[in-house]
Amino acid sequence: TENDIISLTAAGTGGLEAAVVNFLSPGDKVLAVSIGVFGERFAKIASTYGAVVTKLRFADGEAADPAKVDAALEADPSIRTVLITHNETSTGTTNYLPAFAPIFKKHGVLSLVDAVSSLSAIDLKVDELGLDVVVTGSQKGWMVPPGLAFVSVSPRAWERSETATMPRFYFDMREAKKILAKGQTPWTPAVSVFYGLDVALDMMLKEGRENIFARHQRCADIAREGVKELGLKILPNECFASNTVTAVWAPEGIDVGQLRKTLREHGVVVAGGQGALDGKIFRIGHLGWVHEEDMRAAIAALRLSLDKLGYRAPAAAV
Ligand SMILES: *Cc1c(COP(=O)(O)O)cnc(C)c1O
Repeated sequence: TENDIISLTAAGTGGLEAAVVNFLSPGDKVLAVSIGVFGERFAKIASTYGAVVTKLRFADGEAADPAKVDAALEADPSIRTVLITHNETSTGTTNYLPAFAPIFKKHGVLSLVDAVSSLSAIDLKVDELGLDVVVTGSQKGWMVPPGLAFVSVSPRAWERSETATMPRFYFDMREAKKILAKGQTPWTPAVSVFYGLDVALDMMLKEGRENIFARHQRCADIAREGVKELGLKILPNECFASNTVTAVWAPEGIDVGQLRKTLREHGVVVAGGQGALDGKIFRIGHLGWVHEEDMRAAIAALRLSLDKLGYRAPAAAV
């Protein structure tokens, strides 16, 4: 993107909060497109600050339907802002944003995008798509410890920020923009994380953007094929399965907590489910500094762990 990028010392959620408070006013009507826990969180932040949120929630594992988003904006022309998640980490599902961008354009809405677990790993052409505010976080695809959130802001969004009246102080990005011209931040930044980021960005420039996207695709393919070979089912609709995290249904009779513990003993850490999916799924991350051999090792450990816990792959899958 050629848009301004503001670095905030915060978790990714701080970046989402900054996206809300800088461009919205209490009473503003907002369409929140939600396909999981993080979509719900974005909506909750907006309603906490007084936005009037219309929520469009899709089933876990399904991507948002562009036609339904179009219809919701058609039905209420007073909606001026849309919140959408690029990659829903809780379900391992990616919204294909090029299908939504023309709809946002047609209705003239400002788009606030949670790309925390995708930006730098899954292609997102921010300027070509005309996405106004895009949020990501240091600990995801950027391969460094948590502590920084990055928010890109379009000229149109800066204009909106001049009239937005939600209360803001620490996250006032106009202040950040002003002082950025002097190479400074308004408050003490997470300096140590910037040093790590400097190294990570060098690595990324060396590897090249397209190569990074392709590597994530290959890692995701290994994860998906690997679990399927074990006779397991992935949660998302295959067409929208994420290249940065694979969500897998725990097989009948296998306790997710036990499985995670056994995997950890084999040196592999996987996440459980969030919210209503707790105890039902586990999630294999393949985001950032991850390579094919890591994925093959993870699948091998999964095979071993499941075997230890008494799981037998259905004959058809073997
Ligand atoms: C990780 C993540 C966030 C932010 O998480 P923090 O714990 O606040 O850093 C937001 N949205 C998505 C989709 C995420 O994966």
